[in-house]
Amino acid sequence: MTKKLHPQTLAIRGGKEQTEYREHNQALFLTSSFMFDSAEQGAALFAKEIKGFTYTRTANPTIAAFEQRISALEGAERSVATSTGMSAILASLLTFLKAGDHIVSSRSLFGTTVGFLNGVVAKFGIEVTYVSQTDLAEWQAALKKNTKLFFLETPSNPLGEVADLRALADMAHKAGALLVVDNSFMSPYGQQPLALGADISVQSATKAVDGHGRVMGGVLSGSDELMTQVAVFSNACGLAMSPFTAWTLLSGVETLSVRMEKQFAGALKVAKWLQAQPQVKAVYYSGMPDHPQADLVKTQQNGGGIVVGFEVADQAAAWKVIDHVELFSKTANLGDVRSTITHPWTTTHGRMSPEDKQASGIQPGLLRLAVGLEYTDDLIADLQQAMA
Ligand SMILES: *Cc1c(COP(=O)(O)O)cnc(C)c1O
Repeated sequence: MTKKLHPQTLAIRGGKEQTEYREHNQALFLTSSFMFDSAEQGAALFAKEIKGFTYTRTANPTIAAFEQRISALEGAERSVATSTGMSAILASLLTFLKAGDHIVSSRSLFGTTVGFLNGVVAKFGIEVTYVSQTDLAEWQAALKKNTKLFFLETPSNPLGEVADLRALADMAHKAGALLVVDNSFMSPYGQQPLALGADISVQSATKAVDGHGRVMGGVLSGSDELMTQVAVFSNACGLAMSPFTAWTLLSGVETLSVRMEKQFAGALKVAKWLQAQPQVKAVYYSGMPDHPQADLVKTQQNGGGIVVGFEVADQAAAWKVIDHVELFSKTANLGDVRSTITHPWTTTHGRMSPEDKQASGIQPGLLRLAVGLEYTDDLIADLQQAMA
């Protein structure tokens, strides 16, 4: 078929490894190694003269099917699956960096990523400069001769600030650097960083791709050339995803676009309802028609995503909402069919100093919702009774 397929079709039909048994669903290959017909064939497989599977840390048919399906959704030549989102982020950086190199990164990052950059990457003599998510002049000013990579996630957590991916891709490429984008918050349904000029899209498959809060996984997508290097790095470091995880994620991803379409619409309805409440001082959601970057959002996102931030009077008021909700789960996970609520000041951003939190716009009265697949009016009624 020459017609460009819709993501809803690709999520189901993109990527398949089939055996001689012609199984309809994707088979689960729980095996650590694969046999050779002869010594000669074994030698040819290891020399990569013929294609085939040898050992699951290197490649496995179930993992390959998952990687192909994510490639179809991200619009990538190739993807590499890893054990968690964090191991995928590790691979996206350390495959390409060495001691003496420099990274420019947005300040608005997932907390564990900040810990990884400051606690691990820095230890190997790689320097990081943090800049504003939205101020392109700060990115430009941070460039050095040894800048090799730009890193960011967009929209930011939980304030929904949007980075201009096309402009940052141009700036990175002029400087000879790679642009790596953490796409966990939007998923490939909501945003395709590669189409906007990014070199690598990396995501935690634990979130929207699984969608049911069952397994941990990560995946990186990009050109064949870059992903071949990532695959060699991942094999050497043993970052592989488990075949069972890949099999679970293959069923999760089949409903990605229907889940995301409903969850994005639910998040927008909740955000608009919150904005009309007198107790709510501010709502942060990149899908709002009055979002300060609404024009940019329209050109790079398919909707506003699932995460909604909103601010009430103070920490006591925020904790009261958390302690009184009945449907929302009190957990920091997101992208699940179950809606969640958290207090960033004391959880996801708890390790930052009060000054750094204030500087990043995180206030004590801020709450973060990740909207799931429950009936939206039930979620609104739950918030209403909790805020009363
Ligand atoms: C969850 C998350 C990660 C880390 O993924 P894990 O699968 O938990 O290792 C990285 N970035 C973002 C934006 C996330 O939400």
